[in-house]
Amino acid sequence: MANSITDSVGQGGVNHPDDVRTVYALLNKLLSTPLAVSDQVSDELIQAIKNFQQTFLSQPDGRIDAGGRTWRELVTAGETPEATDISASVGEGGQNFPQDVRLVYALFNKILSRPLIVSDQVSNELIQAIKDVQKTFLSQPDGRIDVGGSTWRRLTTPAGGTGKSVLLSFDDGPAPTSALHSILDTLDRHGIKAEFYALGQEVDSFPTAAQEIANRGHKVQNHSYTHPNLAKLSKGAVQKELEKTQESIKKATGTTPTKIRPPFGAGGWRPYDPELAAVAASLSLHIQNWDIDTEDWKSPKGIGPGKRAMIQRQFQRQQHQNLFNVLMHVLPDTADDLEEFISYLKQWGFTFAQP
Ligand SMILES: [Zn+2]
Repeated sequence: MANSITDSVGQGGVNHPDDVRTVYALLNKLLSTPLAVSDQVSDELIQAIKNFQQTFLSQPDGRIDAGGRTWRELVTAGETPEATDISASVGEGGQNFPQDVRLVYALFNKILSRPLIVSDQVSNELIQAIKDVQKTFLSQPDGRIDVGGSTWRRLTTPAGGTGKSVLLSFDDGPAPTSALHSILDTLDRHGIKAEFYALGQEVDSFPTAAQEIANRGHKVQNHSYTHPNLAKLSKGAVQKELEKTQESIKKATGTTPTKIRPPFGAGGWRPYDPELAAVAASLSLHIQNWDIDTEDWKSPKGIGPGKRAMIQRQFQRQQHQNLFNVLMHVLPDTADDLEEFISYLKQWGFTFAQP
């Protein structure tokens, strides 16, 4: 079959009949309910293009340009080898053919820290695992995987494809240093690099700890010197807080921070606090708040089971995004829960971005 299009297809596209047919054929490989193929663009086709684009574009435009991002994603998605496809739906209310069910178990066991017991039958445990994946991007998880559907794509998309990623960030370090070391060890075990928004005064007290963060490949960034609400300070005071911290971090690690996260996020949401923005710009600092607040500082501290639903809702509300900065703190409970939290992030389909 033709594996290229000569011009754009879809909303506002050139829509050469041959190209339109090629796009129908490619999309029908992915859809559980195939579209009626013709050489005309239908509303149904435009909607299918938009749905497909939603997994990797923040503003789906319903058009496929020759050689463009959507075209490349579509070809890649269609190339999934036959042997690793399910032939019918799996999970709650699914058709659950034994070979499909086994394949789904195998997929989950690649990402779960505690493997599921594999069989030909769908277990409640499997349905729950499917729902957990769905909770980060569907408002009504149904526990079922449809052929070529969004849950299937989420489970099978390799890193760097249409997959979504998280960037882990830890505030208020480098102390307490025992929690810091535990966090660094867990990150090392998973080969994950993170951002640490450090306080200048703690860096001055624990320069070796700050240096170790950098030595182990993470980024040490600016979180002010004394943790004040920068939005309430004069420009001169903000300048002092940020400049002193730049110097402390430079002295301890040999690297100069490129990002500032204001304490409490204050002044760091658009529109930025004007004084903070001016000082940050003068120090070549990019203002970086977070997308996902794990609320690890709230009682009960850490990122235990009680925080999971709240975190999943935050991902769900921002499902148009592809990269999420996840806020945590250098705290003992967070350090204890980090291993399990990372395994949940993997289970939810996220890969880990480089800081
Ligand atoms: Zn803080």
